[in-house]
Amino acid sequence: MRIMKLLFLVYFVFWSCQEKQSQVENKKENPPEETGINGKTEAMKPEDTEIWEPKPPQLTIDENTGIPSDAIVLFNGTDFDQWISSKDSSEVKWILNKDGSMTVKDKTGDIQTKQNFGSAQIHLEWRSNPEIKGENQSRSNSGVFLQGKYEIQILDNNDNHTYVNGQVGSIYKQSIPLANASKPTGEWNSYDIIYHAPEFDENNKKIKPGTLTVLHNGVLIQDHVEIKGTTEYIGAPKNRPHGKGPLKLQDHGDNSGVSFRSIWLREI
Ligand code: MG
Repeated sequence: MRIMKLLFLVYFVFWSCQEKQSQVENKKENPPEETGINGKTEAMKPEDTEIWEPKPPQLTIDENTGIPSDAIVLFNGTDFDQWISSKDSSEVKWILNKDGSMTVKDKTGDIQTKQNFGSAQIHLEWRSNPEIKGENQSRSNSGVFLQGKYEIQILDNNDNHTYVNGQVGSIYKQSIPLANASKPTGEWNSYDIIYHAPEFDENNKKIKPGTLTVLHNGVLIQDHVEIKGTTEYIGAPKNRPHGKGPLKLQDHGDNSGVSFRSIWLREI
């Protein structure tokens, strides 16, 4: 009888071990489905993952201009009130056209906004000179500088050979655009830019690079590209610390004839 009891006990222990092993294997093969926040597995209702407040701001979009109601309008075609000459802060000497655009007046210098900005969404429209003259970097060359330092190139690149890291839509000498999405020479182009400013610590060390995303006529040409530093004509990018800065437009000094219209900005 004792032997029977002992055999039964041994069999029971063996069976228990097998059963436990089988449960572990089963759990490994079919882990419980993690549903919702913190991997809670209990049944959740749809409303458990709904956020109702606070609501994002309600904007309106201007029917005629397409400008959102929270944008800072920097140029609407009527005046240069938001702009100054970059070299001496004097009044802008560029040409104000009757069609609501402005054109670079040769050799009067770059212009920039009176107001300084950090990270921002920027919209602007530009047109190369309808009269084709010059070649390479001398054909309708201008540019838009974020915080006065980082240039997105404007150039008439239609049938115009140049270095690709300086072509239209490049982050000048740093990032080749993904495509050339230019309209025919003399037609209006748009740039929509998402700019995140670089960050510097108290020791003036760059701790986060700036980034640029650019759409040219609605086409993605710069995809969250890290800015290496200032966009220099000669030499390596520089990374001197800075705070907010103006939006700057370039007078390349070779009678570019580039025009601009509808410039607005939303701070991020
Ligand atoms: Mg340029």
